[in-house]
Amino acid sequence: MPGVFTHQFANESFNGQVNINTGLFIDGQWVDGSGGSTIDVLNPTNGELLAKVSEGTAEDVNLAVAAAQRAFDTTWGHNTPGSVRGILLNKLADKMESQYDALCAVEALDNGLTFQWAKNADVPASIATIRYYGGWADKFHGKTIETDKNKLAYTIHEPIGVVGQIIPWNFPLLMLCWKIGPALATGNAIVMKPSEFTPLSALMMAEMIHQVGFPAGAFNLVVGYGSTVGQTISEHPLIEKVAFTGSTVTGRKIMEAAAKSNLKNVTLELGGKSPNIIFNDADIDQAVNWAAHGVYWNHGQCCCAGSRIFVQSKIYQEFLEKFTKKVKSIKVGDPFGKDTNQGPQVSQLQFDRIMSYIESGKEQGANIHLGGGRVGDKGYYVEPTIFTGTKPEMKIVQEEIFGPVAVVIKFEDEDDVVRQANDTLYGLAAAVFSKDIDRALQTVNKLKAGTVWVNCINVLNHNVPFGGFKQSGIGRELGEYALSNYTNVKAVHVNIGQKMF
Ligand code: NAD
Repeated sequence: MPGVFTHQFANESFNGQVNINTGLFIDGQWVDGSGGSTIDVLNPTNGELLAKVSEGTAEDVNLAVAAAQRAFDTTWGHNTPGSVRGILLNKLADKMESQYDALCAVEALDNGLTFQWAKNADVPASIATIRYYGGWADKFHGKTIETDKNKLAYTIHEPIGVVGQIIPWNFPLLMLCWKIGPALATGNAIVMKPSEFTPLSALMMAEMIHQVGFPAGAFNLVVGYGSTVGQTISEHPLIEKVAFTGSTVTGRKIMEAAAKSNLKNVTLELGGKSPNIIFNDADIDQAVNWAAHGVYWNHGQCCCAGSRIFVQSKIYQEFLEKFTKKVKSIKVGDPFGKDTNQGPQVSQLQFDRIMSYIESGKEQGANIHLGGGRVGDKGYYVEPTIFTGTKPEMKIVQEEIFGPVAVVIKFEDEDDVVRQANDTLYGLAAAVFSKDIDRALQTVNKLKAGTVWVNCINVLNHNVPFGGFKQSGIGRELGEYALSNYTNVKAVHVNIGQKMF
């Protein structure tokens, strides 16, 4: 029998208890992994064991796919009208509202993101996403297309069938909602793999999905490792589509597995190294505040983090002074503290990765302007760090660090900064700060990025598409655009009396 993780919170942000099933959720049931093993989930504030959850295997993926296919063929997919799917998604959003603080607390506990951010951003955005796609469930339909008087031609948007979804640890709940919202709205049956580092909110969601009445098998959750569960999902011959968020390295593996198996449809949301461009005429105080949010939000563990800050030469010095003061004010500490801005990084692995990037910056001759060290002697806390004096080819300028590390780079003119901004493998996001609308929008047009912000950064909406150019991904999440990732278009031609001789 799968276990239950019970945790009593007693802190200045939340007092209460959570009870979370720790099994796999397959065919509407909580079950143990077929191998009988478990995964240790660690507390990022101290590295201690938090919970043990069932470890899924390839065999469990097979069981989940079979359950999803049964549901799709009998109770879900075409068998549940869009209006009913919409009601179920709205009930799920209501259920999430009813456990609002518990969801925030579990995200803070498991991932280390601050309770206040979870409360003001991640959890409301997750709920809004589910509601938004609930609204779409009976509205994403085909068209009639005029051809000639002897023909009725129309399209049907059909659900794809069984879809695999693989998500990372950086926004565990939000990433899950971005994925399941459009997939369930369009009637697909899901086999979901959360990150092995942060499975707890996904386990809570599986129980809520069950409680609000989705048919058994419409949503299946297989917690496990990437090399086993993730790989099996990617190469499974009966999964017709895989949607992935995570690193570019893993995205490539998933695409290869998909190509070698059944050529399944693949959408990828991958990494980034986003430029944030601040022109001489920007509102400098606002640019400072947004730039800090842009890179240090969620401890830098954000795919669209504006981690390369380009500042035009006339304001460079003033910007750097004000930015330094702002970054020094970031309070690093307990994710449950009411005034904490930055909690721990998610894992020892990420902590080590960030530290090795900081070392490489030093070795390659960049200047550590601020930070660069560990905070405290336990947990995975990293000082908010600023590098200056970088060169374009340095690793800290080219590669995604996924931690609280910014490089601040001086530039002279527009052509120079656009060339540098576009000079990475990535193309996820970018930002431009200027009071001159012509300059701002001319720069927007030249940037190779799926999202460009003007006079703000790192603000997303559930109804605006998000995704990458270049090696930052394929396809779009959020908004109406995401729905087409989860539908096959069928074109129907009906003859109205034309004779064939
Ligand atoms: P990761 O690629 O290591 O892991 C992501 C997920 O893939 C996890 O669930 C993992 O278990 C699984 N996985 C690992 N190997 C696999 C394999 N061979 N086959 C199938 N699945 C496998 O990434 P991460 O470290 O969890 O997350 C950080 C990365 O995610 C960063 O690069 C970040 O930029 C990216 N990210 C992108 C977006 C976006 O929308 N573009 C959003 C969030 C995170």
